[in-house]
Amino acid sequence: MKLAARVEQVSPSMTLAIDAKAKAMKADGIDVCSFSAGEPDFDTPKHIVEAAKTALDQGKTRYGPAAGELKLREAIAQKLQRDNSLCYGPENILVTNGGKQSLFNLMLATIEPGDEVIIPAPYWVSYPEMVKLAEGTPIIVPTTLESGFKISPDQLQQAITPKTKLFVFNSPSNPTGMVYTPDEVRAIAKVVEETGIWVVADEIYEKILYDGAEHLSMGAVSPEAYERTIVSSGFAKTYAMTGWRVGFLAGPVPIIKAATKIQGHSTSNVCTFSQYGAIAAYSHPQDCVQEMVEAFAERRAFILNCFDAMPGITCPKPNGAFYMFPSIGATGLTSLEFCDRLLDEQQVAAVPGIAFGADDCIRMSYATDMDTIQRGMERLSNFLHAIAS
Ligand code: GLU
Repeated sequence: MKLAARVEQVSPSMTLAIDAKAKAMKADGIDVCSFSAGEPDFDTPKHIVEAAKTALDQGKTRYGPAAGELKLREAIAQKLQRDNSLCYGPENILVTNGGKQSLFNLMLATIEPGDEVIIPAPYWVSYPEMVKLAEGTPIIVPTTLESGFKISPDQLQQAITPKTKLFVFNSPSNPTGMVYTPDEVRAIAKVVEETGIWVVADEIYEKILYDGAEHLSMGAVSPEAYERTIVSSGFAKTYAMTGWRVGFLAGPVPIIKAATKIQGHSTSNVCTFSQYGAIAAYSHPQDCVQEMVEAFAERRAFILNCFDAMPGITCPKPNGAFYMFPSIGATGLTSLEFCDRLLDEQQVAAVPGIAFGADDCIRMSYATDMDTIQRGMERLSNFLHAIAS
């Protein structure tokens, strides 16, 4: 069988591949400290689990509307109004199989051959591949550690051409953990307003913030920015619901309708009883989120402290998400060599920065327990000292 050319153009997801490798090594009895996938180690909060169990008992086990249960779309609309000052109704929302499918449906619904999609690097591994699968052209705009890995309004302006279809804006960022300040979001929004480009704002880490960092939704900046912005988000990271597969897309009705049409011919509705868990996530008090963020904050402080004493590693202080994105350039190794050796020699799993468009960095997710983090840091330190000597 000759495979489709589009498959040749995309790489396998390195985040998923390394996570699978680390899990397989653990299953073989190897003591691996994994900092690979961005998957909270916490159990899904009880009230969410109970809501899904009740839904099962009530027979919520059948097909539902492809766009998602009306109650969930209403809960998402209320959340977007309450937390993000974004005015949407249920008709503006598509419930998707995780945040990943919301982005994928959006790309398929909007990108045509020759369309350009601007993606600041470092970027989440799947953005460029999704653009390619939709037959568009990713336009990668590199950013630097010195600029906090943030794209400037000038850089955005310069990347825009008549072929620009979409700009992918992700804050807090996976993989860098950087958060654009409200003023920085406003400055980027100004370019959006002046040029009329479309933006997809990936806000899946919006609740995971440290040191008083603030999240401002691009669409909340002005009526013009609101009109040109589509929000992609989900429940996985905030509520430790990675396996539930519930995300959403919110935006103008014609775009949501188009994405829903695609979903209607691919996966149909998201697992019905999972959606009832998601309703509970948004309709209960948010203490569980606060507790998880406090735990992440403790781990973040610990790791940053450890990094300070390690040779060959420089890490900007991330103020969101649960990733560290240290530069390892000083070791003289590529990110692939670094991560391969780290796994072989010290049984520590991290994701090579090349997967995110930055070969002199590695990504370490600290959504893992403190014991793993402590042992992992000790091993990373041994590794770096061995290289340096
Ligand atoms: N988004 C998470 C990560 O970056 C999960 C894996 C994936 O879907 O890429 O690690």
